[in-house]
Amino acid sequence: MTKRTLHNRKRIAMVAHDKKKKELIDWAEANKVVLARHELLATGTTGRLLEDSLDRPVKKLLSGPLGGDQQIGAMIAAGEIDILIFFWDPMEAQPHDSDVKALLRVAIAWNCIVACDQSTADFVLTSPLIQEPYDINLPDYSQYLHRRIED
Ligand code: PGA
Repeated sequence: MTKRTLHNRKRIAMVAHDKKKKELIDWAEANKVVLARHELLATGTTGRLLEDSLDRPVKKLLSGPLGGDQQIGAMIAAGEIDILIFFWDPMEAQPHDSDVKALLRVAIAWNCIVACDQSTADFVLTSPLIQEPYDINLPDYSQYLHRRIED
């Protein structure tokens, strides 16, 4: 079984759709003290709002619909993100729906810790594991990687 070790200081990526941004910012402000112990990344607009409200640096990627969701997905696959907090909007179609779906899919493919609502995010942030090392068991993709393509 392949493992990926998460360290005490987690790399937390945050994304919020427009109508969910206030909810995410309010949640982040309420959890400012715990979040201060971790590294924060976000899609462009979400990151700018987080920086303003938390008064601390946040690594900002491109805006979600302009490729930011895909950047986060690629970082999850490369083992560069430990936790995804993604407040996506279930009530509104997004122009970049395919990117949203791709991000959620790749996060699950890599057994990434994902919270898509405030209550799950609360459980993640209050887990004792948030400040301890943790070994993620990665799915075994060896058969897939070594598959033979028959004619
Ligand atoms: P944004 O992107 O933070 O740049 O608004 C979020 C999203 O994926 O819609």
